Amino acid sequence: MHGACPFCEIAAGRIPASIVWQDSQVLAFLDLRQAVPGHVLVIPRRHAETLCDLDEHAAAHAMRVAHRVALAIRRCWSPAGLNLWQSNYAAGGQEVPHFHLHIQPREHGDGLLRIYPAGAPAPSPRQALEALADELRSALAE
Ligand SMILES: [Zn+2]
Repeated sequence: MHGACPFCEIAAGRIPASIVWQDSQVLAFLDLRQAVPGHVLVIPRRHAETLCDLDEHAAAHAMRVAHRVALAIRRCWSPAGLNLWQSNYAAGGQEVPHFHLHIQPREHGDGLLRIYPAGAPAPSPRQALEALADELRSALAE
């Protein structure tokens, strides 16, 4: 356990997250700080800095879950495409030193996936995130 690592705190249940998938090895959740709605992070429960710090089995499992999440995103929102990449903690200048896969639905020209109707009360960012998480959880349960 790395006490200062927020993703280890999420894995331990001490920081709430909009979790859409979890098993004994990995978690997948929607991250409130991401600019694109429906952006999912897949993390191993065990702390590791990069893909290369995971053993072959753990790396393969994280990729398998990423594939499942990608299929669920397609079923839910039918985006034009999907971006998939790994975090690059030190090289990327990131604050979170815990390996994660980014899975980001994308539209042509990186447009937003969801636009709320004009005049309708905008949901809070957390409510909007939870609504998306509900849709994805249902798709992942199929
Ligand atoms: Zn960690």
